[in-house]
Amino acid sequence: MSRPSSWPIGRARPRPGGPLTGYKIAFPMISADSRRAGFNGVALGRSQVYGPVADAVCIQSPRHRCPSSWCDCGFYCFHALADARDLACDPQYQHSVLLEIAASGRYIRYELGLRYARQTVRSVRLGRCGCGRAATALADGGPGLTGWRRLHPVCGLCAGPRPVLTPEAFRARCGGVPVHHDEAVDDSAATAFAPLPGAGDDVDDAALVPLLAAEVALLQARLDQVQSRLEQLTRRSD
Ligand SMILES: [Zn+2]
Ligand SMILES: [Zn+2]
Repeated sequence: MSRPSSWPIGRARPRPGGPLTGYKIAFPMISADSRRAGFNGVALGRSQVYGPVADAVCIQSPRHRCPSSWCDCGFYCFHALADARDLACDPQYQHSVLLEIAASGRYIRYELGLRYARQTVRSVRLGRCGCGRAATALADGGPGLTGWRRLHPVCGLCAGPRPVLTPEAFRARCGGVPVHHDEAVDDSAATAFAPLPGAGDDVDDAALVPLLAAEVALLQARLDQVQSRLEQLTRRSD
């Protein structure tokens, strides 16, 4: 996550008394052999996959410690979950998940969030599937990185017959980090979305018409065949 332009430049501070809680977005990933799960950063960290506990690495220079005041390196997070949720609406971050993290080590505090050295992922929130329903699993999707496949949060209907990774299976491959749905998705006081009454029936009927028409055409052709065969036999027996 790059530093939003509204964030003023801060100064690296010494280790705080304890970890600080923050929120961010990331793309969920699974290793090529499906044994490990992790996360891909959405901006500066796009070329790297990190696990549930990770130390920031500067890709510009190995000679300074992260985060340096003179560099953009380090992990980034927001102070507020709502800010991370807002960023997830940006089209380029579609299919990302929300992470709650604990930041430790050296850090720089900004108005909206932190830039810091060490990160522990505390939980993963699955937001919405591309169709708008709450995502309940993770399916293969999008371009990956060498050794890693990208996963998309999906609902059961859109996953269809595709194999999916359940939240429990992701958790088992990601150091036991709990994975649950985002409470904002089914906040009944806030949501105004509901399925149209009978919408599902209309879709089914519309899909059935061409199928039935094709079946009738086949039966008609078969009847014509039987009719002409009968006529041939009748003529022969005359
Ligand atoms: Zn750096
Ligand atoms: Zn869906």
